[in-house]
Amino acid sequence: MTLSSELVRSVLQSAPDAMIIIDGSGTILYANRQVTALFGYQPAEVVGSPVEMLMPERFRGRHVTHRQGYTSSVRVRPMGAGLELFARRRDGREFPVEISLSPIQQQDEVLVAAAIRDVTDRARVEKELRDARAAADRANLSKSRFLATASHDLRQPLQVLSLLNGTLRRLADSEDVNEVLEQQEQALGTMSRLLNALLDISKLESGAIMPDICDFPVAQLLAELRLEYAGLAANKGLDFVVETTGLRVRSDPTLIGQALKNLVANAIKYTSAGSVTLSARKVSQGVRIEVRDTGRGIAPEHLPFIFEEFYQVGVATNTSRDGYGLGLSIVQRVVRLLDLRIDVSSRPGEGSTFGLEIPAAQAAAAADAALRSQRAPATALAGKARHLLLVEDDSGVRNATRLFLKGEGYRVTAAASHAEALQLIKEHADIDLVISDYHLDGGRTGAEVISAARERFGAGHPAILVTGDTTPAMASLKRDDTLRLTSKPINADDLVGLIQGLLQS
Ligand code: ADP
Repeated sequence: MTLSSELVRSVLQSAPDAMIIIDGSGTILYANRQVTALFGYQPAEVVGSPVEMLMPERFRGRHVTHRQGYTSSVRVRPMGAGLELFARRRDGREFPVEISLSPIQQQDEVLVAAAIRDVTDRARVEKELRDARAAADRANLSKSRFLATASHDLRQPLQVLSLLNGTLRRLADSEDVNEVLEQQEQALGTMSRLLNALLDISKLESGAIMPDICDFPVAQLLAELRLEYAGLAANKGLDFVVETTGLRVRSDPTLIGQALKNLVANAIKYTSAGSVTLSARKVSQGVRIEVRDTGRGIAPEHLPFIFEEFYQVGVATNTSRDGYGLGLSIVQRVVRLLDLRIDVSSRPGEGSTFGLEIPAAQAAAAADAALRSQRAPATALAGKARHLLLVEDDSGVRNATRLFLKGEGYRVTAAASHAEALQLIKEHADIDLVISDYHLDGGRTGAEVISAARERFGAGHPAILVTGDTTPAMASLKRDDTLRLTSKPINADDLVGLIQGLLQS
């Protein structure tokens, strides 16, 4: 059956798009009704004219060449794939179009049918989307910058205050003064916890944190948690059980550590008797780390909300209490960022279990044993004041730390820069431990100072690396038993605890 030309004509007339048919020389042979709506010309006005009359002048010359290319290798295709195409109305106004072409074999001549669609709306939406995305990127960038500044400029003085407080507490000999200083210390602690939580949240949100994925032993994380929380648990009379494990996982150890810290801190906070247990086991998806407590538990109606920001069970917002309802929302963000899984089960009055599932490590364990065997050589003679090298480019923090450590009975040599630190490492043969800020002058890092010290004093030379943020690529430094990472503002007692721990081992 052949279609009548009448039928073809009426189909073309009622097509939703403007349609034209041109011959091999680019002359318009046919135009449907929609051409009028789109271009402002009557069909009769365009028939017989070159197709280039429907496009902006600046494209005409090029189009002639393209058109010749098309008619010599014809196939159905959208025109100008990947390019933005523009058409021109009778009144000179331009508009974006989408054109699809198909060849029509007519005896020995190839004609081309073109369907033309006005995509002004789509183009506008796309442009708006692009603009919105660019604005969001800019906002994120300035948020990250704000955060970097806030984190550095607020943590620095807070660090100074907290060290000065530590020094004063050790010098004060009246009970009244001591009490004032203790309250001051508590306020400082609250302030830095809130600052850290807010910065963590916003950093995770702004995308400023790039996960640094590697294989690492779970035992390393659990050991760090034990070190940090054993004291707190003991103070509350809780058993703090950290089960041994040889399992290895693949993820970002710093971020996972941060999430686990929040879970452990909560477990201790909401448990008044019994135990807090940390364990790890293999599951089909990888490794499951569990934080289990025998605390007050969470009622089922609250469970779905505890990961939300500022959500606290049974506490009206804006009443002050221990915590801000941010801990679990940080955990949630880390889980999302690293694509992990978290679940919680809880029975009121009996306890809660938080389970974090992490992909298993890809490479088999091997390096750990080697790492563990690199212990620090016994550096100083008993009875003699231990010699600390302190590297910090901020003079306020440097002086406060030096004063504080001196008060603690250490011999302290302080360096303000990377170069000065290297010089001092050369000059002194008896440095027992290096404490260095991560970001130093001129883009140098504390990691480099520590590496230099280890070159001179041996592989396991004890060191503490202090960071103002959680981002920097610290992967270059292998974490081991003799290197501690800690973030500003570090509390005076914690610093002493770290130093003692390292010098005893
Ligand atoms: P907060 O700063 O209040 O601890 P989180 O976001 O860490 O904020 O936790 C939200 C709420 O979830 C807490 O207020 C607490 O009621 C509840 N919660 C979290 N962990 C535990 C736990 N281990 N045992 C009991 N309740 C918990």
